[in-house]
Amino acid sequence: MKPTIRKVVDNDMCVGCGACAVATRGAIEMRRGRHGFYVAELAHAADDVLAAASRVCPFAHEAADEDAIAARVIEDMPFSDPRLGKYLSIHAGRVAADAYLNDSSSGGMTSWLAGRLLEEGLVDGVIHVGRGDDELFSYSVSRSLDEIRTRRKSAYYSTSFAAAVEAIRGDGLRYAFIGVPCFVRAARLACLEDPALARQLRYFIGLVCGHLKSAAFAEFLAWQCGVAPDEVKAVDFRVKAPGRDAGRYDFAVQRKGASDWITRPTFTLQGGNWGHGMFQLNACNYCDDIFAETADVVFGDAWLPEYRADWRGTNIALTRNATIARLLAEGRQRGELVLDALAPERAAESQGGNFRHRREGLAVRLADDRRAGRWVPLKRVAPGSVPLGRRRKALVRQRRAISEASHRLFAEARAAASLEQFVAAVQPLVARYDRLNGPGLLARLRARLRRLLRPGAKH
Ligand SMILES: Cc1cc2nc3c(=O)[nH]c(=O)nc-3n(C[C@H](O)[C@H](O)[C@H](O)COP(=O)(O)OP(=O)(O)OC[C@H]3O[C@@H](n4cnc5c(N)ncnc54)[C@H](O)[C@@H]3O)c2cc1C
Ligand code: SF4
Ligand code: SF4
Repeated sequence: MKPTIRKVVDNDMCVGCGACAVATRGAIEMRRGRHGFYVAELAHAADDVLAAASRVCPFAHEAADEDAIAARVIEDMPFSDPRLGKYLSIHAGRVAADAYLNDSSSGGMTSWLAGRLLEEGLVDGVIHVGRGDDELFSYSVSRSLDEIRTRRKSAYYSTSFAAAVEAIRGDGLRYAFIGVPCFVRAARLACLEDPALARQLRYFIGLVCGHLKSAAFAEFLAWQCGVAPDEVKAVDFRVKAPGRDAGRYDFAVQRKGASDWITRPTFTLQGGNWGHGMFQLNACNYCDDIFAETADVVFGDAWLPEYRADWRGTNIALTRNATIARLLAEGRQRGELVLDALAPERAAESQGGNFRHRREGLAVRLADDRRAGRWVPLKRVAPGSVPLGRRRKALVRQRRAISEASHRLFAEARAAASLEQFVAAVQPLVARYDRLNGPGLLARLRARLRRLLRPGAKH
């Protein structure tokens, strides 16, 4: 079999993780393409290099899937769920100190745990994403509590872990790795190929993931705040808004040369609705792992009514490692964490949209691709295996159309220095999605009939 990593890159399914660069010790390089996301550069790679890279690429046929990896790297767990993977405990919770929460995206438990692993001497550093020097965000290595606390909040932005992992390789120290599910899977695969690296990457902390955005997402939101793409110095995707629903957070941008931040509610900005999938990487159309099933622990937002209402933010936390479960329990005993036990159904419910997009939607996309004769990665969801109505299928396809078009349209608008050009071009696609997502004709007719038949209704 020819190494399938080439199919991954040629079909625009590379997520930019950098595992192939790590596994081939730089024989494959990573570059940020014109559409603002990292892609592996395979042009000069020989077949043996490609074969090694394919074994660690989360979209290549040669790579073990999430179930197979979890069977090797996660200890036996008392529970397992097809939506969540293996697990030991599930909680909703947050860091108890309100002052801490302002600089975290959600309940602050991800950075809290990274800090505890360091304080306990279980790791010497943390590999995670923070503000970058040459880029808005990049993978960095934090070696102190201060550094861990400085690098907080969600980076909805394409990054690659290749350079950060290369920087620590062979230094004899131990690290925790934080990443979205496919990055964790890719880093695990790299460790399975390289026992010395596995001895260094000791803990894997996953982030629940909806999809990954190209750099254009930050630029588009910033542009709407009056800061043109080349003027952007820094962005904050998750500014908390006291009194508001936790999901209705703000976006903030800092202009080069300025110290103040311009802040707008994200829901008032176009592109801020994640359902539209604007600037989503194509790789995310081929992903079925929502709860980072190969990670030792995964954190997300508890998007459930009773927690959403609290603007401070609440995490969902699912553990697969006894040491981490112990650290969380001790955190609660010491009053550092507030935790409520959560049933698996509720954990899955908190990510309803993600399951619709990545399990039901994936079945539709795979069937579409097969029909069109396109190469597809091997997934745990079979093509066409989830029966969906016509309208729902059309919605899945429209979302994909928005993602696909948004990259090209934004690059053109950026070159023309015209925000209006992008908005005018993307708006009809979004309007069609919103129509499909609203009540259907039958539902609208029924509602109208009910109104007409209401006693006292004017005819
Ligand atoms: C691309 C993306 C999509 C997401 N989609 C969802 C979703 O659909 N549903 C959901 O419930 N949650 C989602 N999350 C997770 C959510 O946004 C929060 O990151 C999570 O709840 C942790 O919040 P916290 O307050 O505990 O983290 P904090 O205390 O703010 O700490 C965040 C930690 O994560 C690290 N980090 C941030 N971004 C990245 C990144 N891109 N790669 C690696 N490390 C990173 C930081 O370095 C820091 O250590 C997503 C996160 C990302 C990055
Ligand atoms: S390993 Fe990661 S960076 Fe390399 S081709 Fe696969 S998805 Fe892209
Ligand atoms: S949706 Fe899947 S493929 Fe996309 S970034 Fe998240 S985990 Fe990776």
